[in-house]
Order: sequence, then C-alpha cells, then structure tokens
Amino acid sequence: MARYTEALCKLCRREGFKMYLKGERCYTEKCAIAKRNFAPGQHGHNTKKMGQYAIQLRSKQALKRIYGMLEKQFRTYFKEAARREGQTGEVLMQLLESRLDNTVYQMGFAVNRRTARQIIRHGHVLVNGKKVNIPSYRLRSGDVVEIKEGSRSILQVKNGLELSNNRNLARTWLDVNTDQFKGTFVRLPKLEEMEVPVDLQAIIELYSK
Ligand code: SF4
Repeated sequence: MARYTEALCKLCRREGFKMYLKGERCYTEKCAIAKRNFAPGQHGHNTKKMGQYAIQLRSKQALKRIYGMLEKQFRTYFKEAARREGQTGEVLMQLLESRLDNTVYQMGFAVNRRTARQIIRHGHVLVNGKKVNIPSYRLRSGDVVEIKEGSRSILQVKNGLELSNNRNLARTWLDVNTDQFKGTFVRLPKLEEMEVPVDLQAIIELYSK
C-alpha cells in the first residue's frame, strides 16, 4: 500500500497549520507548528504572497494529506463528488468523512487516521457486527462501528481513548459511546458541521482546469 513517507510534521509546516497527523504531540508545545511555524527548507521564511495556482495547489495538498491519501485516490474522490448531485465541495467532504478510517479516528478510537487505518487492516473493527478490514469502506447512515471485544485493550485503542480527553470529539453526525467502544454514523454531515481548514473552491477550480 502506497503511503506518505515524508516526516509528518514537515507536511504541517509546509501547509502552515496543524493537521494533527501524529497524536499526543499535536496537542502539546512540542508540536512543530507551535515551535517553528514556517515552511521547511531553504526558502521556508519566504513570505511572498501566494498566487491563485499556489493557493489551489496548497488547498488540495493539505486536504489530501489530512485524510492520508495519494493523488490518484484523491482525484477519484473528487471525480465522484463532481458527478454526484449537490455542491461538489460539500459532497467531497462527505465522501471523505464517511470513510471508516476517518470515523474510527473521529470517534476517538485512534490517535490519528493513520493508526485508525492500521487497526482496521488488522481486523480490530466491526461494522454492524461484522469485521471490515478496508480503511476506505464507506459508511452509510445508521451503520454501527465498534472495536472488537478482544481488541479493546490494544495499545492503539487505549492511546486513542486517552487522547480523546484532549480532543474535541463533538461530531453532530456521530453518536459515540466510548465506554462501550462503539458509535453510530448517524447521517452524512453538512458542510457547516465539518472542520474544513482549506479552501474547497480552490480545489474545485484546480481540478476543473
Ligand atoms: Fe502537525 Fe502534529 Fe507535527 Fe504539530 S505535532 S506539526 S500538528 S503532525
């Protein structure tokens, strides 16, 4: 499986904001954005105003990295969003948010999306009582996500739940019961309910060229 191998904090510094790619460190003063909020490399301190294309590119790169995707996969999501009825930006975000790996993370069972993918691939997660080991699995309204009974004490889940005390886990489209290690994907979120730290319109313009 292809994945990013660049240092994770460098990715945040490149985009100029916290993407919460690591875990506990992201919530402490050790976070690289808190310590060195400028882009990595020789020209990192360059404060030249970004042009239109640079804004489009950076918005796309950031969103792609937040959800841990490579270009081809991300483009496929965009194409599907553009094909579907509704506002492309909102549909794109809904497709990303309804991924199983994202939901396991949003429910607080993993410290980041990358760890969520790992625990799903290793068979620790059930959807509606059945094992699902595909991180990109798309959840539908009413689906119940659960950590398998025998997997509730694994380190990744424990760390996730510990960290969830520091995270704001309020997601209006999810109904989570961490004591029972389960939650329901109640419905698709609306655009205004989701955290969207990038310019979605810029991504649409980039891919519409
Ligand atoms: Fe990003 Fe987390 Fe690294 Fe901070 S600690 S720069 S939020 S990955």
